[in-house]
Amino acid sequence: MIIFDLACQHDHRFEGWFQSREDFDSQLASGLIACPHCGSLAIRRIPSAVHLASSAPVPAAVAAKPAAATPVIDMRAGALAAFRQLTEVLLANCEDVGADFAEEARRIHYVEAPERSIRGEASAEEYEALLEEGIEVFRLARLKPGDMH
Ligand SMILES: [Zn+2]
Repeated sequence: MIIFDLACQHDHRFEGWFQSREDFDSQLASGLIACPHCGSLAIRRIPSAVHLASSAPVPAAVAAKPAAATPVIDMRAGALAAFRQLTEVLLANCEDVGADFAEEARRIHYVEAPERSIRGEASAEEYEALLEEGIEVFRLARLKPGDMH
């Protein structure tokens, strides 16, 4: 499935879901795509800001080779230091609930437990389930055991 941002000649914007680029082309040629606002068949694709953002490459800094002594590396080191600092602040201000994280996050979300920031361990499945329930959780990637103290 791909999503195209579309617009009619009156500049009404809407999204269209298609199997493929070819599917879009053939539906357009057959007059099967109509503007949901005015019914116009004069449809064109418009650039999608969302798609441009989501397909943005990873920051060059992260992809840079560690051995190259360029300003890119300085930026990467700075970003890592900032992330580390943020992580420490987060961890220092969160109650450690360990393996009960998913359970406790739910209790807080449903106001069965006092509202506060918590941290702990959750499996990928638990994490996804929490997100699906609309509970705001944040996963810290690749923390070394020493970072948790
Ligand atoms: Zn229209």
